[in-house]
Amino acid sequence: MLAFGYAQAKDLPMGIELLRDTPAALPIAGGTDIIQLLQEGVIAPSELVDINLLPLRGIEPAGEGLRIGALTRLSEIADDARVKARFPVLARALEETASPQVRNMATAAGNLLQRTRCLYFRDATVPCNKREPGSGCPAMDGENRMNAIFGGSSSCIAAYPGDMANALLVLDAELEVQGPDGGRRLAVADLHREPGDTPHLETTLRPSEIITAIHLPATPRSANSHYLKLRDRASFEWALVSVAVALETKDGEIRSARVAAGAVGTTPWRLPLVERRLERGRLDEAAAVAAAEAATHGANPRSQNAFKVKLLRAAVQRVLLMAGGLA
Ligand code: SF4
Repeated sequence: MLAFGYAQAKDLPMGIELLRDTPAALPIAGGTDIIQLLQEGVIAPSELVDINLLPLRGIEPAGEGLRIGALTRLSEIADDARVKARFPVLARALEETASPQVRNMATAAGNLLQRTRCLYFRDATVPCNKREPGSGCPAMDGENRMNAIFGGSSSCIAAYPGDMANALLVLDAELEVQGPDGGRRLAVADLHREPGDTPHLETTLRPSEIITAIHLPATPRSANSHYLKLRDRASFEWALVSVAVALETKDGEIRSARVAAGAVGTTPWRLPLVERRLERGRLDEAAAVAAAEAATHGANPRSQNAFKVKLLRAAVQRVLLMAGGLA
């Protein structure tokens, strides 16, 4: 591990200033991903700016919805009675994330910003365009079982590995962000970038910006929302495929739908074709099968991950049946 500096931010302006004034500084809070990346030599920040003292922790009402501070721990969100009752897809996604110990440390914003689990990215001894632009992508013809089938480019096919972002996508969640030029709101749907020819640029955050909160709006879909995660083993494992769904129904008809998939895209991946197939119809087994067929339109599997095509269809079908009380 390379040497790096350490500074503790006492308040938000100080945190932003430290990040702005120190080239290659990174903010750290729970540290559950950053510490691993440091130990593995994958990242080499000049300084870590500890933001744990910033008053960004807690869950509070915001209009009809909720505002979650960026430093709120995943376990606090998953255990919150309001989240469980009104945004169950989020509680479920977090219950399925990592281990209880990690959930007690990891923060909401840190979880959104976690890095890919691509084997080559995590191995500093081999080339990787995301870690070292222009060095190559051994995953293209190598170990790509866990990589993406949507959104890849000739530079990178790394899958976004998280759970929470998929749930936030179907909840139409927004982020509060603060930076040197002030504050702004950013839809979670606009946070992550597809790799294109710049896979090292993973988000639309501007230099020195800090995510300060997540807003969950109350929508006609949020309480009827579900999450399914499929993985090699039942706990403390990354998804092979996950699916989040939120449905607005009236008199048995689906009025509006949000469906997103995890571990299949280079970003949290919305499935608009599935949504369109569902809307204005009734949710029964035939409808779930037809919607699931649309889930893999445009998929581009690699040598070892074609199984994700079938698995994604099965997961979409299954979670829709769960949502309809049919499974
Ligand atoms: Fe690196 Fe992306 Fe290729 Fe993985 S898929 S080796 S992260 S460039």
